[in-house]
Amino acid sequence: MDEKDLGKDLAKVLIPEADLQAKVKELAAQIDADYEGKDLLLVGVLKGAVMIMADLARALHTPASMDWMAVSSYGSGTKSSGVVRILKDLDTDILDRHVLIVEDIVDSGLTLSWLVSNLRSRNPASLEICALLRKPEAVKMDLNVKYVGFDIPNEFVIGYGLDYAEKYRNLPFVGTLAPHVYGGNGG
Ligand code: 5GP
Ligand code: MG
Ligand code: MG
Repeated sequence: MDEKDLGKDLAKVLIPEADLQAKVKELAAQIDADYEGKDLLLVGVLKGAVMIMADLARALHTPASMDWMAVSSYGSGTKSSGVVRILKDLDTDILDRHVLIVEDIVDSGLTLSWLVSNLRSRNPASLEICALLRKPEAVKMDLNVKYVGFDIPNEFVIGYGLDYAEKYRNLPFVGTLAPHVYGGNGG
């Protein structure tokens, strides 16, 4: 899927494919340096993290295992509340493992804060976060995201794993939607 397939649903491309791919390589180089000689377990958060997980894992030189969690955060509309339910738990016992959470985006940071305390209680050897995108609100949170791809403005973004009503995940870039898609005027 590309820009042309999106037609007038797309407002603008925020991060082009080439920039995403360059950033993934940068993040992988940092992670390689930090985890040299360690047994790394990447934990992807479904479904948004599938693209960053797949590209990051392939860009790493460090041997890494991959596991997945699916969580749903209760909230009103598009805001998450911090009350999280596990839809799919890890298959892996993370006791004494070096765990790196891989996320698509941190907005309020509530979902990740919950995930961090949940995983920390399982006593991993280490626990860090890699998030491709970070919104301004997350910067104010007391949440240490060690690896951040891009700080973006407070806009709803789609593509490269991120959806609107389960659509647009398979765009190779990150963009914003035209207002008519949200059911607003101008449809
Ligand atoms: P938080 O708990 O940090 O507020 O929200 C985290 C989750 O909300 C993300 O993992 C993502 O699934 C969703 N989310 C937050 N902002 C956006 C956005 O701009 N676009 C999309 N598609 N999802 C978002
Ligand atoms: Mg996510
Ligand atoms: Mg979503």
